[in-house]
Amino acid sequence: MTAEIISIGTELLLGHIVNTNTSFLSQKLAEIGVDVYHTSVVGDNPMRLTQAIKQAVHRSDVVITTGGLGPTVDDITIETIAALVGKRLILNKTVLKDLKDYFKMRKTAFPRNNVRQAMIPEDTKWIRNRAGTAPGLIADYRGKIIVCLPGPPREIEPMFVNDIMPLLIKRSAPNWIIKSRTIKIASGLESLVNNKVKDLLNLKPPTTVGIYAKLGQVELKIMSKAKTGKEAARAIALIEQKIRSRLKDHIFGCDHETLEGAVAGLLIAKKKTIAAAESCTGGLLSSRLTDVSGSSKYFIMGLIAYSNEVKKNILCVDSEILKKYGAVSAQVASQMAVGIKLLAGADIGVGITGIAGPTGGTRTKPVGLVYIALAIGSKLIARELKFRGSREEIKFQSSQVALDLIRLNV
Ligand code: ATP
Ligand code: MG
Repeated sequence: MTAEIISIGTELLLGHIVNTNTSFLSQKLAEIGVDVYHTSVVGDNPMRLTQAIKQAVHRSDVVITTGGLGPTVDDITIETIAALVGKRLILNKTVLKDLKDYFKMRKTAFPRNNVRQAMIPEDTKWIRNRAGTAPGLIADYRGKIIVCLPGPPREIEPMFVNDIMPLLIKRSAPNWIIKSRTIKIASGLESLVNNKVKDLLNLKPPTTVGIYAKLGQVELKIMSKAKTGKEAARAIALIEQKIRSRLKDHIFGCDHETLEGAVAGLLIAKKKTIAAAESCTGGLLSSRLTDVSGSSKYFIMGLIAYSNEVKKNILCVDSEILKKYGAVSAQVASQMAVGIKLLAGADIGVGITGIAGPTGGTRTKPVGLVYIALAIGSKLIARELKFRGSREEIKFQSSQVALDLIRLNV
C-alpha cells in the first residue's frame, strides 16, 4: 500500500510554522509498512488543493490531508473534498452536538461559525475529534481512500493512531513493518561513538544503524524491517546489546527519555539533593533540573551568580582566588560548587562559569570556554570545556555537560 500526505495551509508555505505533521505521519506510516513516495504542501486555495488531491489519488492508494478543517473561511478542505467526490454537504446532528458539548464544557458560548464543522459530505465516514473541534473524514473515492485530518498536532496524533492506523493495517495487510530504537549519548562524543560502532554503521537492511549528531548529544538509531513486530524487536535488541556493551555508561537513555529525566531518576533513587550556582548558563541547568515532574524531591535551590560580588558574598568565593585566576576558572567554578552546596545544605553542589559570547572573549579565555564543577560528598570534580556555537548553543551545551557529569557521579 502506498500513501501520500498533503499538508494544507498558507502559513506552512510561508514557513511560519514547521511541518511536523508530515514527519509524524511519515514515521507512523513506515511503522505499519505503508510506503510514502510523495508528500506536498499546498496553500489555502481550493483550485490548487483539488489539483494536488487529484494527482495524489492518481498515484497513491491513500491520500492523507492535514489542516484546513477549522471554522474560518480560509478552511476549505471539506468543501473541496465534497466537490471533488461529488457529494453534498449535510449538517450532521451528532457532530453538531459534539461541538456544542465541547464549548459547553469550556463554558463558552457556541460560536455560530463552528456550525460549518458539522457539515459532512453525504455518506462519508467521520472521526470524532477528542482533542479539539474539527472532526476528521474518511472518504472512498475511485477505489482509493482520502483521509482528512485537522491541523493542530495534538489533535491529529491521537486521531491518526486510534482511528486511522488500525484501518490502514486492516486494508493493507502489510507484508513488513519497521521498528526503531534511538540510543542517546550526551555531550560531544561523536567521534568516539563513531569509532566504537563503525562496523554497525555499515550494516545493510533489514537492520541498520544511523548516527545523528545533535547539539550536545549523539544519537544512534537502530531500524529494523521485518515480517512481524516481534521479529523486528528481536533484531533491534541484538544490536542494542552490542552498542551497550561498547558504549557502557556513556549512554543515558533511549527513545523519548531525556538527560534531565535520567538525572532525576538517579537522584530520586539514590535519595540525593542538589543545588546549582550558575553564571554563564543563567539558570538553564536549574531550569532543566526542574523540568521533570517531582523535582522538589531532589532540587533545593538555584542561584544565578552573575556578578563577582554575589560569588564572593553569597557563595564565599575567595577574593584572592577571583583576582588570581579570574571569574572564569576551574578554581572559581569549584568554589561556587562548594559554596552552593553549603548554602543549600544539599548533597551535591554544581558551579558553572564561562564565556557564552559572542563578546567578552580574550586570547587566553576565548568565547566558549566554560568550567563546570561538582561538589559531591567530600569529592570535588572540575572540568574545562571548549564549546563552539552561538550564545544559546554554548549555554545549552554547558547545561548538557553539567547534567551528564551529575549523572555519572551521583
Ligand atoms: P483549526 O480548527 O485550529 O483552525 P484546522 O484543521 O483548520 O484547525 P489549520 O487551521 O490548517 O487546521 O491549522 C491550525 C494550526 O495547526 C496551525 O496554526 C498550526 O499551529 C497547526 N498546524 C497546521 N498544520 C500543521 C503541520 N503540517 N505541522 C504542524 N502544525 C500544523
Ligand atoms: Mg484553521
